Amino acid sequence: MDLEAVENALRTALHQAGAAGLSELLQYEAPAPQQRQLPCSCGHYAQYQALRSKPVLTVLGPARVSRPYYLCSQCHHGQFPADAELDVEDTEVSPGVRRMMAMVGATDPFDQGRQQLQVLAGLEVTTKAVERTAEAIGESVAAREREQIRRAMQLDLPIVVGEPVPILYVQMDGTGVPVVKKETVGRKGKTDGQPAHTREVKLGCVFTQTGWDQEGYAIRDADSTTYTGAIETAEEFGKRIYLEAWKRGWSRAHKKVVMGDGAEWIWNLAHQHFPGAVEIVDLYHARQHLWDLARKLYPNDHLAQKAWMKLHQKRLLDKGKIEKLVLSLRSIQSTHTEISEKIRTEADYFDTNAERMRYPQFRRQHLFVGSGVIEAGCKTVIGSRLKQSGMFWTVRGANSIIALRSCHLNARFEDYWEARRAG
Ligand SMILES: [Zn+2]
Repeated sequence: MDLEAVENALRTALHQAGAAGLSELLQYEAPAPQQRQLPCSCGHYAQYQALRSKPVLTVLGPARVSRPYYLCSQCHHGQFPADAELDVEDTEVSPGVRRMMAMVGATDPFDQGRQQLQVLAGLEVTTKAVERTAEAIGESVAAREREQIRRAMQLDLPIVVGEPVPILYVQMDGTGVPVVKKETVGRKGKTDGQPAHTREVKLGCVFTQTGWDQEGYAIRDADSTTYTGAIETAEEFGKRIYLEAWKRGWSRAHKKVVMGDGAEWIWNLAHQHFPGAVEIVDLYHARQHLWDLARKLYPNDHLAQKAWMKLHQKRLLDKGKIEKLVLSLRSIQSTHTEISEKIRTEADYFDTNAERMRYPQFRRQHLFVGSGVIEAGCKTVIGSRLKQSGMFWTVRGANSIIALRSCHLNARFEDYWEARRAG
């Protein structure tokens, strides 16, 4: 006996029988004569017309629903009240299948999602249907977040009561996502004269820390990281990350820390939304700035670069002696315009961020000094799904999938789905 052939044939047969039974359940009756009109949104009434039928793809396969149709003679708006009740308004995909599509679409490229549904659920769907449905659900998740953000800005959210949080971190970063041409019209690329072919996703994460290891190094609380992000302006993103931090207990955290690289928008947002937080520039970014300079100063001379780094990184940067570092940088003489320009830029960078680079102080408080969590997030949340070869996104499509992925990774999808059903 070919078990695989038999089990699949049986599943198909059971699905077909189930779909037939389901279709029976989905045959609505015509309304009683005294119930043949409904209020219309225009203020008039819609009159019952007839029973109308449409296909619905369910977890048991193709089924049909037949339900009353009402039409308003004033504004010609038609309605199917049963569709709202069944949660199949403006769609021919059942809620059960839509959830499956959202799950595979969040995780993998849409065509792989199509294959997964075929093998795992015995459902024949098109790649486009997976894409359209996953994006529609992501868009709905995003719309819900926008509403929460609006309420957070009006201080209209209920206070979340919970355990005090010892240390709460907010980390922010930006990462490029390849987009279709129309999304970059009029935008400058990274190389002068070249059009941009990516747009920046601003991503933030929030996590907590309760303790540290024997050597005093910070330990992140397991499963404590949540993400949020979108292709949007810094101003919009500021509200988004504020809401996320708020949800995670910002107001009851004993110590609050904001981390990022040197990007100006991050520190503007920290100032605006997280005043009073400890601000830390990622140590590894800061070191990278010194390495870039070392390579410019001593091209092709690795030994000289290393000697220079030993002084500037190990004795100054790592020790948090940023004023000395800035003085030392500013005292470097160069007749080369490009190099003196670079020196000035880097000296300004360290000067501006000096208070955010007191690494020994941060270490004494057992805080993280690297923003590894958000960098890993850029890969797991964004890179692994949105930056595969041959992918080009619309901003709208990318933002819905980012919303959907974050919702899944934050273990909030079940809550979203429940709340959506409740209206
Ligand atoms: Zn009407």
